[in-house]
Amino acid sequence: MTYYHVSFENPLTFYLQIQLMVEVPTEADGPLTLQLPAWRPGRYELQNFAQKIQRVECSDADTDEPLPYRKTTKDRWEIPGAAGRSIRVRYNFYAHQMDAGGSWLDATQLYLNPVQALLYAEGQQNEPCQLALVLPPGWRLACGLPQVAPNVLQASNFDQLADSPLIASPTIEHQQYEAGGLPFHVWAQGEDAVVDWPRLLTDFKAFSEEQLALFGGFPVADYHFLNLFLPYKHYHGVEHHNSTVIVLGPAELLMGEGLYKELLGVSCHELFHTWNIKAIRPAEMQPYDYARENYFRTCYIAEGVTTYYGEYLLARSHVRTPAQYFEELNLVLRKHYDDAGGHNLSLADASMDLWLDGYKPGVPDRKVSVYHKGALAALLLDLTIRQLHGHARSLDDVMRRLYDDFGKTGIGYTEEDYARVVTEVAGRKMQVYFDKFINGTAPLQEPLDRALHTVGCQLVASENVSASEGTFGFRTVVKNERTEVTYIWPDSPAATVFTVDDELVAVNGRRVDMNLQSLLSTGSPYYEVAVFRQNRLLLVELAAQAGAAFGTRYTVKKLTEADETQRAGFQKWLGWEL
Ligand SMILES: [Zn+2]
Repeated sequence: MTYYHVSFENPLTFYLQIQLMVEVPTEADGPLTLQLPAWRPGRYELQNFAQKIQRVECSDADTDEPLPYRKTTKDRWEIPGAAGRSIRVRYNFYAHQMDAGGSWLDATQLYLNPVQALLYAEGQQNEPCQLALVLPPGWRLACGLPQVAPNVLQASNFDQLADSPLIASPTIEHQQYEAGGLPFHVWAQGEDAVVDWPRLLTDFKAFSEEQLALFGGFPVADYHFLNLFLPYKHYHGVEHHNSTVIVLGPAELLMGEGLYKELLGVSCHELFHTWNIKAIRPAEMQPYDYARENYFRTCYIAEGVTTYYGEYLLARSHVRTPAQYFEELNLVLRKHYDDAGGHNLSLADASMDLWLDGYKPGVPDRKVSVYHKGALAALLLDLTIRQLHGHARSLDDVMRRLYDDFGKTGIGYTEEDYARVVTEVAGRKMQVYFDKFINGTAPLQEPLDRALHTVGCQLVASENVSASEGTFGFRTVVKNERTEVTYIWPDSPAATVFTVDDELVAVNGRRVDMNLQSLLSTGSPYYEVAVFRQNRLLLVELAAQAGAAFGTRYTVKKLTEADETQRAGFQKWLGWEL
């Protein structure tokens, strides 16, 4: 058993005091090696949490004798001569990162993601762990782990402890609902949030039951939604073993149209992860290696399929209308077609590249999103399987098979396993789908439009009516009254004369001042544009290209006239009348 002890003296410093106690077997050879995770499951990039660790001290727990140690990497410590001893390690952890993967300390709450803060003893990761928290009187503890004594949490191994975030606070609210005979807990922390509990619990129960019915079982015995509602704008969620942390704001708008919609979307998405990534896990992460990158090619399944189902199941469980669902789908389409990165990187390679630059904008047109394109590829696959089997089979069957074969057995799946299950459910070779849309960069529009027709819908392409974007192929932003170029479509007129970061000063001698679109819409065959580039004034000639259009928008719409088969398809896919 590894014992952890977390306390704090002065919340104003954001520092937590952490102790860990490890029994080192007498027969152990070599030093005791302690490792702090360098990344956390759910975000596939190195985050180097050791940056938050201060003042490490080691001692013999029985004699209090200080023990020397040395760092062997940025987040690895070795203590020689530890065999047969009980070792105590003390250090401070800086809890000052407020997002769904972070940790935070202030006078009113302690929010901790143990994966950021707790060292583990190499070789003892499979031992049970106990985490004792010293909390002020009246504070209540919310966590997916059971409490074996007040404020003492028990985990069966380090993975489970690392994957069990907690919130402790004197004001945290708690409600519960039941789905599939299992308890679901909803926790709400944040003074400014006024939760409409009856509405929330009804909606949550509906999408939870839809998911349980889809998979025919739940990987865990209970579930905890840990919500942090902030007084400022924020949106983030992270999945865990039997819980999720969701951070949203501004809290006072929580039950308003926009933010409540986001709460439902992220909650349904994170719950789906309890199967898809936590239980049904890529072989490369079975088990997790916290010390280095865990490369995997299948994040289009983990995040793409989850992004698809997160919104789709809200419609299927009648929490959302088809029109509301299409709004979300159109947002995914807009984000996917926002730049030309989809021509340059496949979904499977984008999964590897999460570890490279997956969570930042990256250089222009380099990347494709495993979330957005992954969701569109999942939609295409679902509709394709449905069409092949008259809706008697669907992507549901693929996910259920993955849960049975991998989720329930704890065996990690490979990309070949996924392709095999998809092929078996589809009942025909699916190599073209994988070659084109998963491992290749073929455009999705036409196949997606054809697939949508089978359920009485279509993919509508509409011209970008902004002159700068649609005609000339560049986007701008106004910053401090300066109009700056932020994006240029490849092979557009703008690509021959502008560069990203150019400041547009004048068009045909007229000052650019919130009037760019009208200055570029006079019908003239070309425009003389004055730009500041690296503080030098330049005059360039911007000419339209006959027949060219850039930044085309794609949206899903119902067909105006659908036949009986299409109507029935819509009903079977979405559970609503067309
Ligand atoms: Zn996700």
